[in-house]
Amino acid sequence: MKYVADEKRYGDMVYKKCGKSGLYLPAVSLGLWQNFGEETPLDLQKKKIFKAFDLGITHFDLANNYGRPADGSAEENFGRILKSDLMKYRDEMIISTKAGYDMWAGPYGNGGSRKYLMASLDQSLKRMGLDYVDIFYHHKPDSDTPLEETMQTLADIVRQGKAFYVGISNYKKEEAEKAVKMLKEMKVPCLINQIRYNMFERWCEEGLLDVLDREGTGCICYSPLAQGALSNKYLKEIPKDSRAMREGTTIADRYLSEKQIEIVRELNKIAEERGQSLAQMALSWILRRKEITSVLIGASKVEQIVDNVNALKKLDFTQEELKRIEEILK
Ligand code: NDP
Repeated sequence: MKYVADEKRYGDMVYKKCGKSGLYLPAVSLGLWQNFGEETPLDLQKKKIFKAFDLGITHFDLANNYGRPADGSAEENFGRILKSDLMKYRDEMIISTKAGYDMWAGPYGNGGSRKYLMASLDQSLKRMGLDYVDIFYHHKPDSDTPLEETMQTLADIVRQGKAFYVGISNYKKEEAEKAVKMLKEMKVPCLINQIRYNMFERWCEEGLLDVLDREGTGCICYSPLAQGALSNKYLKEIPKDSRAMREGTTIADRYLSEKQIEIVRELNKIAEERGQSLAQMALSWILRRKEITSVLIGASKVEQIVDNVNALKKLDFTQEELKRIEEILK
């Protein structure tokens, strides 16, 4: 049966202005880094994307290397789903992609050169069957390419109409400040910086968020659940169907030390008192900040998307709750 979007899809989602641009993004966006490659049946991928769209999630985030194998498989699958069911909603969707990490062999398949970015975006558009993406990102800073070359390429991509907006990802304070200024001079504003931010990783609080806020650049946070560690799933054991059990993932090394699990247990008590799941509290905790435009979640199951969007029902924290969370995270 053909998918028909829920008529009530714009009822409950919160939309936030992306920096000082004219673009609204949903407070919860869906990323296709994991769970949208060849390991996941297309039918399940569809169910997740349709549920997300039905809940008002208009923003879908991809990159050239997303999916397994990391050679464009997530973009190909997303392209299939767009073609079969979603093209008629294209103007209601914000689709992003990126280039920066290793993608093909030889000296032109990674980094920040004009050659790589232009060629990669053309490949991404072809895989997704699109004429343009809404946001194109440089995926990570590249010290081997002059920043002017990378930013000039982003500006030219907008002028060519292949992306409506451009952004940077994983740029720290000083690099972000330079990139944003350069793009401003080229009259193509830097829409957004996509960075890792969660209760375990808070480096962006030391200056970057202030810079983005001052410059009017939005901020979208990836791995807001620390890849699932900031939920109640790992409290007793490592479930068989979890990301930690999958080959080639980084969650166990990054977020599942004994100390971190102990922290998660303590946070879980506060979440229960607030009447939220821990995943919901972890998202609300990020979204309470005015500098943050959106949290970029991943999902292996449809239910996780529903759970996470319900975080929006309780975004406020008491001073006492914030103090207790700080004590636990110390
Ligand atoms: P999350 O921190 O949201 O982790 C997602 C994982 O957490 C899910 O796959 C699932 O894992 C688990 N999960 C999600 N919701 C729940 C819930 N309610 N209860 C319990 N477990 C839950 O984000 P990701 O690390 O997946 O990153 C999200 C997106 O951010 C990516 O898809 C990508 O778009 C972007 N990203 C960008 C990067 C960059 O360099 N710019 C780098 C990394 C990500 P399980 O499989 O165990 O069920």
